Amino acid sequence: MSGRGNRVTVVSPVYNEQDNVIALVDELTEVFAPLSYELNVLLVNDGSREPTTIILDELARTRDNVTVLHLSRNFGHQAALTAGLEAADGDAVVSMDSDLQHPPRVVLELLEKWEQGADVVHSVREGVQEGLFKQITSRWYYRLMRAISPTPVIPRAADFRLLDRKVVEVFRTMPERARFLRGMSVWVGFQSAQVPFVVQDRRAGVTKYTLRKMVTLALDGLVSLSSLPLYIAFYVGTFVTLGSLAYFVYVIGMFFFTDTAQPGWSSLMAAMLFLSGVQINLMGVIGLYLGRIYDEVRGRPTYIVARTAGKSLNTGVSAP
Ligand code: UDP
Ligand code: MG
Repeated sequence: MSGRGNRVTVVSPVYNEQDNVIALVDELTEVFAPLSYELNVLLVNDGSREPTTIILDELARTRDNVTVLHLSRNFGHQAALTAGLEAADGDAVVSMDSDLQHPPRVVLELLEKWEQGADVVHSVREGVQEGLFKQITSRWYYRLMRAISPTPVIPRAADFRLLDRKVVEVFRTMPERARFLRGMSVWVGFQSAQVPFVVQDRRAGVTKYTLRKMVTLALDGLVSLSSLPLYIAFYVGTFVTLGSLAYFVYVIGMFFFTDTAQPGWSSLMAAMLFLSGVQINLMGVIGLYLGRIYDEVRGRPTYIVARTAGKSLNTGVSAP
């Protein structure tokens, strides 16, 4: 291996993946067996029910390269990943899902790009394993993001990526609670590379991403990477106000200089409805940001570690 260090930590968030975690650790171990890297697997238990917790503790006890962080409840995928990134102490830190949709052997390709000098290695999904709904919403979402965000988010990127130690350190200094790692990992800069991979079918179980979690993630991404919606609110507000002023002048003119002024019930209603619609919309946009500002200002931790099991990490993990 070249001079980039040989300690690799694989971070994987686990939420009720009782039928997948053992296979994940086994396959990672197998992939790394012929290599001279030192592999550590850091599983973040994001408030899973039994039997996942028992299986994780068992893995931590029997495998000498497995560490488990048990969060105190379900904090969500991005928060769990953040917990893992903050605890991981490898020279390279790879994040991947624990349902084996991100194939362990692709980690080798991520490492190869890292050895070649990339500090952030993104993976890009190929093939169509997702349902039609997710495909369409995801496509339009990334289109929108690219149009309005100054940070060029990579379309079809997955939360399957490699970060060099120094990037992980930068992540630790980014205190935002609403985490959108797909955006943050581009925003930080550094040399980056991309590796395509074919998304596998989930090995067992069903998706843990409810529609609600998806919408939250999508909004977090928008709000964290772009202030444009706020400016749109400003511009649309200005435009509508000027428009209504002009209309007001027209109405006054009709009143004084013609005798055709009638009680224009329909235009009045139309204008009123339109204006209230715009107002509610704009208030919603402000609310989106305000809610997040409130979250940030409160300064609560992104996650809470209840306990750890298995091999201890150099960084010393404790509840923040
Ligand atoms: N996950 C998590 N907390 C959650 C939801 C999901 O830690 O609240 C984990 C889950 O165990 C998996 C990864 O995040 O390892 C991705 O979730 P999932 O596979 O359900 O999402 P999908 O691949 O369907 O988008
Ligand atoms: Mg999945």
